[in-house]
Amino acid sequence: MPEAPQNRPTPIDLQTHRPHSARVYDYIMGGKDNFAADRETAAKVLSNWPGLRTSMLANRACMHRMARYLAEAGVQQFVDIGTGIPSSPNLHEVVQESAPEARIVYVDNDLIVLTHARALLAGTPEGRIAYIQADMRSPDALLGDPTLHEVIDLTRPVALTVIAMLQFVEDAQGLVEALLAPLPPGSYLAVTIPTADLAPESEELAREYTSSGIPMYLRTRAEVECLFTGLDLLDPGVVPMPRWRPGPGDQPLPDTATNMYAAVGRKP
Ligand code: SAH
Repeated sequence: MPEAPQNRPTPIDLQTHRPHSARVYDYIMGGKDNFAADRETAAKVLSNWPGLRTSMLANRACMHRMARYLAEAGVQQFVDIGTGIPSSPNLHEVVQESAPEARIVYVDNDLIVLTHARALLAGTPEGRIAYIQADMRSPDALLGDPTLHEVIDLTRPVALTVIAMLQFVEDAQGLVEALLAPLPPGSYLAVTIPTADLAPESEELAREYTSSGIPMYLRTRAEVECLFTGLDLLDPGVVPMPRWRPGPGDQPLPDTATNMYAAVGRKP
């Protein structure tokens, strides 16, 4: 029998025949890292709700405000779950602007995000950044990852950013609890999460993602509040995303323009 080839990298199978959430998102936001199956799903959801692009851009802007807020609050370590295909500014660029020595670990399970990891790893010389290819539905494996421990000291406060990704997980509550459990007091949880409470098109959107093979779960306000059990919710609480600490120059969007809640809590 021939010997197995040594030192040959395993070819990456991007499964481009199937739509993937990261690539559908990339397409709708005007990116180039997507394939026909992703564009087909995007076209379907956009035909029912052209405003989805506005909602996604508002999500990105909210992530920037949260990252800046947390860095200015003194947090020096970030774990970003469901990072997505890079879209500048990425979380580390916003954070390291205020805290150049900050350490960031990015996590995603889509191989196409991995192929772009280099763009995510170019940070300040004082700070440190790592990328982990992992599925957040296995929180123990993620928390035990040696790369995470090289970069993040779990005895010091960590900001766990879970931005526009809990809709892809059935047991969001269990997952958030598992990820927060080992973090010390002074750690934060930052979330943006889709709901059917705001934009009326959201339920149809979730049905279309689900029927394209990307199961999507929407949460009520009460369910989102539950994610913050045991944490001190920061002002202004669980709110329609554009209302989460808008900047002085931000145009106010009506609540029905996005389908997401935003909130940040601190572990006492
Ligand atoms: N947080 C980014 C990207 C959101 S898109 C932003 O807000 O701009 C959702 C991301 O979650 C995608 O990149 C997708 O690949 C990732 N994702 C979905 N399910 C995941 C899982 N089970 N584990 C890890 N990442 C996941």
